[in-house]
Amino acid sequence: MSTQPRKRILTGDRPTGKLHLGHFVGSLRHRLRFQDEYECFFIIADLHMLTTKPSKEDIYAIGENARQIVLDHLAIGIDPAKVTFYLQSAVHEIYELQLLLSGLVTVERLQQLPTIKDMASAANLDQVPYNLLGYPVLQAADILMPRAHLVPVGKDNESHVEITRQIARRFNNLYGEVFPEPDAYVEGGTLVGTDGQAKMSKSLGNAILLSDDSRTVKKQVMSMYTDPNRISADIPGNVEGNPVFAYHDFFNPNKAGIDDLKERYRAGRVGDVEVKEKLLVALENFLDPIRERRAHFEAQTGLVDELLYEGTLRARKEAEATLSEVKKAMGFTGVWNRIRRAVEKRQKKGRQGDKETG
Ligand code: ATP
Ligand code: MG
Repeated sequence: MSTQPRKRILTGDRPTGKLHLGHFVGSLRHRLRFQDEYECFFIIADLHMLTTKPSKEDIYAIGENARQIVLDHLAIGIDPAKVTFYLQSAVHEIYELQLLLSGLVTVERLQQLPTIKDMASAANLDQVPYNLLGYPVLQAADILMPRAHLVPVGKDNESHVEITRQIARRFNNLYGEVFPEPDAYVEGGTLVGTDGQAKMSKSLGNAILLSDDSRTVKKQVMSMYTDPNRISADIPGNVEGNPVFAYHDFFNPNKAGIDDLKERYRAGRVGDVEVKEKLLVALENFLDPIRERRAHFEAQTGLVDELLYEGTLRARKEAEATLSEVKKAMGFTGVWNRIRRAVEKRQKKGRQGDKETG
């Protein structure tokens, strides 16, 4: 029986800090499923950080943030034997590929992307740096380097995968079939912040980290934003758009219990405190095994560094193979080889001539 090689996934995170419940809902839970079905490459995309966080301090923090991100993955149940974690900046072939791909997309096309404008304004940049405009091209290099088939992304990044497909198509047409055209897998689900803002986000201070301890989680949950019109427990409350219930829906497996709470909330027969206390129980049940696994892996000194090291070497090997095919397809290998061979031939002749005359 022949076994087909598994299809590949490329996805990852910028190493800007520890991961939170929003990341779990938006991306990590999908990765748990993917690790059994695909060959998974999880990139720690530190070069992408340079667009908005280029200071030396930011770069210095990459090491610890990368370790924490790997731990976050292991803690939720990612099996280190099944996936490859790697550090983008340590795979120099990605930089080379980005340059070789950069002529396959126009400035106008990149300028039209709402994501670039959004990122610029989020980072308070009134002018767009070259690397921010080129962000999707670097992403294309990330994706095409391991020749990934599937790219799990948030809705806002779907357009970047479309650009990658276009680049792959243009490359294949121009130089020969090297890249599969990757599909986007648009991950469902956004988690609101504890403060009721549209998105849980670490820089907004409205996040519950996967690594937070019980005391911190309790503080966050008990001070969560709920229906602001409800100044006492006997006032009928709004369940829709209420973050406490959004969290119940995601993290409380007791669906009948949630329905009961919602009904009483709407009727003004339950206080916010009870709703929050029940949420706290659900979150603790969710986070406890995550904390245990984290402690288990953290206790193995050097393990995470080793995973990152071995994974990066593995990714480099893939990258070398891809880049070599790319250069061959484009004809660069031939150009260089002709020059090299000509010089080697002359040098050899020269040495022989030296011998004969000397
Ligand atoms: P920052 O505050 O630095 O922007 P963040 O906490 O918002 O950090 P990002 O690094 O911006 O996290 O998020 C990376 C990806 O994680 C997003 O593209 C999205 O796929 C997922 N993600 C982040 N926050 C959430 C959320 N609240 N709900 C669902 N998915 C999320
Ligand atoms: Mg963000």
